[in-house]
Amino acid sequence: MIPIPKKRLYKIFLYSVHGLIIICATSFSALGKVPFFFSLLIVLFSLGSLFFFRKMRLDFFNSFRRDCESDQESINLKEDAIRKEQEILNVLPLKKDKVSFLFNVSKRLLEMSDSDEVYDFLVKTARNLFPQSDEILLYLFDKRSLELVRSFRKDKQLIKEKKGGILDRWVLRHNMSLIVDNLAEDFRFDSKRVIACCDREMVSFIVSPLSVGDKLIGTMRVESKEKSSFSLDDSRLLRSVCDLGVLVLERAHYIEKARDLAIRDPLTGLYLKEYFFMRCKEEIKRAQIKKNRVGIMILDIDDFKNINDSYGHIVGDLVLKRLAKILNETVDDVGSLICRFGGEEFIFFIVECDIDKLKDIGETLRAAVESSTLHFRRKSINFTISCGGVIYPDTADDFLDLIDSADKLLYKAKRKGKNKVCFQ
Ligand code: GH3
Ligand code: MG
Ligand code: MG
Repeated sequence: MIPIPKKRLYKIFLYSVHGLIIICATSFSALGKVPFFFSLLIVLFSLGSLFFFRKMRLDFFNSFRRDCESDQESINLKEDAIRKEQEILNVLPLKKDKVSFLFNVSKRLLEMSDSDEVYDFLVKTARNLFPQSDEILLYLFDKRSLELVRSFRKDKQLIKEKKGGILDRWVLRHNMSLIVDNLAEDFRFDSKRVIACCDREMVSFIVSPLSVGDKLIGTMRVESKEKSSFSLDDSRLLRSVCDLGVLVLERAHYIEKARDLAIRDPLTGLYLKEYFFMRCKEEIKRAQIKKNRVGIMILDIDDFKNINDSYGHIVGDLVLKRLAKILNETVDDVGSLICRFGGEEFIFFIVECDIDKLKDIGETLRAAVESSTLHFRRKSINFTISCGGVIYPDTADDFLDLIDSADKLLYKAKRKGKNKVCFQ
């Protein structure tokens, strides 16, 4: 026998009771045992109570369903929250590793005050972080254009993009990280153009800007020859490392600037006397051990007071700057150092320099100054210099004796009519 559901049983019972009441009422009324009006009342009452119970039942079921639904909803929400918390718990060990990694990176970076050391460290960190990478390129702004300062290439081939590429420019334009899973399918870039620029196969990459707020310093690019080598998390991690690195680079830059200010003359950019003395003494000691020669030359602008008096001190300063420029262009040997000795006097040394080389440099310098014309407010200003040159150890052994001799030779050049170079 098929079992009848409880709901159906209840309905059968209800309709049977009311059916019985209605039948009894109409039968009794038909037999004349009860008045018609009374039996009509009973039938109406029975039908009314039937509708009343039915409505009550419907209302009860509806409110029960609503309660069930809202309970289910809160169960779903709680399950969702539990799932999310579980996910967080699952990634927590990874996050902990990431935080401790970044902590170690920042600790190491904070110990650094030299830009070159920071560049090396950033590339090394990226190599450790992304062993799947084939190339790592670090670009920094040098004046107006990007310059490749450090790179790593698995196949050890030369990198041609010395000034950055399309991807770096995109990152700089948007000042945001870039992640590309497959260059050939990326709608933002023309893959053929990108590959033509860098002259090598690359498929996926992440690029992060090196920036402090709106100030852009450069970019760091990590590339791979495989598809989808980097995740969004990798991109974020690279950005965090770059953000840390850029702060230390800024600090290193200011330290280097402060160091430079302490040893360089602000007007000409040449070294100051104290630094020159220290470096020159070191070079003489080294030359003594290696049995080398060191050439030293002092020079002084002729009649500089007249230039100041005739054209003003601003022009005088421009003359000093012009002379510093000529000095930098003429005395450009490796191991040479130029200094503003004071006022309008300059001094330089050149390592591994004999008298012939010094004479040559002295004469070239004198001629370059003589032929140089400074234009200022439609006036043409020419000036000359007098020089005195000595050689260690031919002239003297002692540093102060060498300077003294060079000074005397300079005044000899002045006495001989200026615009001259004198040697011992
Ligand atoms: P001489 O040919 O004998 O060297 O004569 P001179 O006029 O060059 O030498 P003097 O020592 O009489 O004058 C040097 C002048 O250099 C005096 C000083 O005002 C000027 N001077 C020193 N430092 C600066 C500077 O930084 N800027 C300017 N504009 N002038 C300077
Ligand atoms: Mg002078
Ligand atoms: Mg002087």
